[in-house]
Amino acid sequence: MSSSVALRLPSIDGLLRHPACAPLAERYGRDSLLTGLRQLLDELRPGVLSGQLSAVEIGAEVLAGRVGERLAQQQRSQVRRVFNLTGTVLHTNLGRALLPDEAIEAVQMAARYPLNLEFDLASGKRGDRDDLIEGLIRELTGAEAVTVVNNNAAAVLLTLNSLGARKEGIISRGELIEIGGAFRIPDIMARAGVRLHEVGTTNRTHARDYEAAIGPRSGLIMRVHASNYSIEGFTARVPTAELAALAHAHGLPLLEDLGSGSLLDLTRWGLPAEPTVRQALLDGADIVTFSGDKLLGGPQAGLIVGRKELIAKIKKNPLKRALRVDKLTLASLEAVLGLYRDPDRLAERLPSLRLLTRPQADICAQASRLQPLLAEILGSVWQVSAVEALGMIGSGSQPVARLPSAALCCRPQVSKRWRGRYLLNLEAALRALPIPVLGRIDDDALWLDLRQLDDEPAWLAQLPQLQVDR
Ligand SMILES: *Cc1c(COP(=O)(O)O)cnc(C)c1O
Repeated sequence: MSSSVALRLPSIDGLLRHPACAPLAERYGRDSLLTGLRQLLDELRPGVLSGQLSAVEIGAEVLAGRVGERLAQQQRSQVRRVFNLTGTVLHTNLGRALLPDEAIEAVQMAARYPLNLEFDLASGKRGDRDDLIEGLIRELTGAEAVTVVNNNAAAVLLTLNSLGARKEGIISRGELIEIGGAFRIPDIMARAGVRLHEVGTTNRTHARDYEAAIGPRSGLIMRVHASNYSIEGFTARVPTAELAALAHAHGLPLLEDLGSGSLLDLTRWGLPAEPTVRQALLDGADIVTFSGDKLLGGPQAGLIVGRKELIAKIKKNPLKRALRVDKLTLASLEAVLGLYRDPDRLAERLPSLRLLTRPQADICAQASRLQPLLAEILGSVWQVSAVEALGMIGSGSQPVARLPSAALCCRPQVSKRWRGRYLLNLEAALRALPIPVLGRIDDDALWLDLRQLDDEPAWLAQLPQLQVDR
């Protein structure tokens, strides 16, 4: 015999007055609670009408619990901290460089108080935001002047448009590169209004190739640091100094997009050599552009440095206003640049450099320490080993160079046909942790490269919550 009395959903008013809902109104606000309850009741109504739901399932406590879960979910920030154990230090998808404390304090100050962003405190007159870092940039790179924009892609776009619009930009075929995220040199040139004049071949370009291209329509010569790939074997490239001499002999500016553009010679820390901004300028490049959040280790920004009159021209371009940086970026950039004044302590103070130079022995010791703990949690289906691994700098710096590191390597002990599924499940479980853990799958194993595991206590604390589906 079925119940003759039809079930009815509780009323909104009744629910709002219910003691189980009072703390939710307090916590999330009455409006959000009301919206949540309405949505939930709407969803449940068909189930009630068709008799599929029981009285318990639509009780006030149960409904309050469900709405509470939803509201908590909605309130959780979409921007989440993660553990980057991918082995790629400057990971573009994971926010690239981590800021030093000095920069974080500067960002807080700039966020909290009014500041002299475009105000000259000496004269009391209007100032220019680029002036805030010009002194430091001149000191650190030898450049005459600087202007800062949103990122290096913007720096390249703005420079090309300012110096080469409606003219030809001469560039080697070996440098017509694509950087992740749809940034392609030929496309940027076109958008900047510069006509592409490509010279040479993919692997070899000579001075005579550039020379033959120079004519009345030429506006500039461009050189791009082929950051994310390498050309090896039978290759030829004109040294910057020679290319600059050629450009200047014909009254053309030489533009160099360095990409990462290191401020110091990284080999002093045992890292692969990367061209420095100072050297590019010494070699005769008139304008050099580079990123703030790659090897520099600062906030996202694009720095344009070089000859004073060219920088002045770039700053007059109306696009500059559209691409300019905000006060938070400038504040943190200044703090990061300040650290470069003391290179001896830079590797301790700048997180990206500290992580890049972390000794492999340290990382190996950490892997050995953590291996039994992870093995215990994953159980016997997984073989967890502490092994040497090779990471990379990332963000297009030194694509072929590898950073000797160590990892926890997790291999499912199941037949080959199940391995893929197990690995994906483990990967998903790690991503579902309160602070998602990101590794990489390679060679039938999941690798957690520990070079960047700074906050070991937080990582360990959440490990017991790992729930791997089979
Ligand atoms: C990374 C890179 C860019 C783009 O820089 P963003 O700061 O990511 O905009 C441009 N050119 C080169 C050579 C690069 O390596």
